[in-house]
Amino acid sequence: MKDRGYYKNFGGAFLPEILVATFDELVETFQTAKNDPGFWEEYLDIMSTYSCRPTPITFAQNLTRHFGGARIYIKREDLNHTGAHKANNVIGQGLLVKRMGKTRVIAETGAGQHGVATATMAARFGFKCTIYMGEVDVQRQRPNVFWMERLGAEVITVKEGTRILKDAINESFRDWVTHMDTTHYVLGTACGPHPFPEMVSYFQSIIGQEARKQILEQAGGLPGRVYACVGGGSNALGIFKAFLDDPVDLVGVEAGGEGLETGRHASRLSSKDSSIGVAQGYKTYFLQDNDGQMRETHSVAAGLDYVGVSPILAQYAETGRIRFEAATDREVVDALSLTIQKEGLIPALESAHAFAQAFKEAPAMTPEDIVLINQSGRGDKDIFTIADAFADPKWQAFIKEKAEGYHA
Ligand SMILES: *Cc1c(COP(=O)(O)O)cnc(C)c1O
Repeated sequence: MKDRGYYKNFGGAFLPEILVATFDELVETFQTAKNDPGFWEEYLDIMSTYSCRPTPITFAQNLTRHFGGARIYIKREDLNHTGAHKANNVIGQGLLVKRMGKTRVIAETGAGQHGVATATMAARFGFKCTIYMGEVDVQRQRPNVFWMERLGAEVITVKEGTRILKDAINESFRDWVTHMDTTHYVLGTACGPHPFPEMVSYFQSIIGQEARKQILEQAGGLPGRVYACVGGGSNALGIFKAFLDDPVDLVGVEAGGEGLETGRHASRLSSKDSSIGVAQGYKTYFLQDNDGQMRETHSVAAGLDYVGVSPILAQYAETGRIRFEAATDREVVDALSLTIQKEGLIPALESAHAFAQAFKEAPAMTPEDIVLINQSGRGDKDIFTIADAFADPKWQAFIKEKAEGYHA
């Protein structure tokens, strides 16, 4: 197991002995499925009838005119069922769960999006479902908890540690160790022990496969630059993979939070604040202090607020094949505002990081240049977070009135 799943110096599978057989089974099932042409057909079939694939690319004519530089195209992962690229991953893993003959899935969730996606998949496939969520996140993300429970999932509030995402991940592993025979852990991004980084980016690669063909047809050439936001790294790898062998500048955009100089951010690959370590079963760059204690991260976008990053991206950061940048909360909210007003599109706060970086660079390019932005998800489902980010007074009054209404 030790030599498997390495990307240069990153990745691996650092597992407790008791989980080794379960991971061997997962690796074997995944490899067999990958080599079975019928499997990808089955995947495409369900993605096209259940989750709007292929998602289109949209020419952003008003933004293009506004900046007067490169022609801007947007890959529309927001049109997936449950509103983001996360559907690509959970449906793929669901098909593997069926192949393994397991009947129950568990997942960790921070913002709740991956929990909702997993609970949706479980309802569709008829699996039992348990979602682990830190107590702080349960309080912050009530609407997502509401939907997970309606979808039939049991939501377990994690009260250990700092009561956020990383604590929910630890609890998920604890559950898995005691229920391996029946249960699969649906990890939410291209992180964690092998085979998760490879497996999750394999399912997400559908984004780039479609996008490369679409941009050639619609724009008449390859893009000069492709932008994607980076939380764990799954939507970024999903779109980048198809362009790795092309002369295309790939740009991963991390959460700059309140600014890299403040230390309040989640930039693992674009700041000097991270170092290489092993945690949660894999080796990568983590935001940690000198004793290996994980630092607190910050971002306006909950989905980018994570201490680690995909080992596959860490490798491309070192080789220089992918460039990493950071966008601050302020830049992101401005980019979101502009995109809503100019195009009538509502990107998720996560996705708006990719937009923000593209907007910084597009004006210096020419109309011969094409840029492609991955809109990983839609923002209208994030109304509570976005309304807070905009500090909209009418919204605040509405929330207050609603709350008072319940006391009557
Ligand atoms: C979860 C999420 C992300 C971050 O996850 P990655 O694995 O980095 O893609 C980005 N955008 C949206 C809309 C999300 O829901």
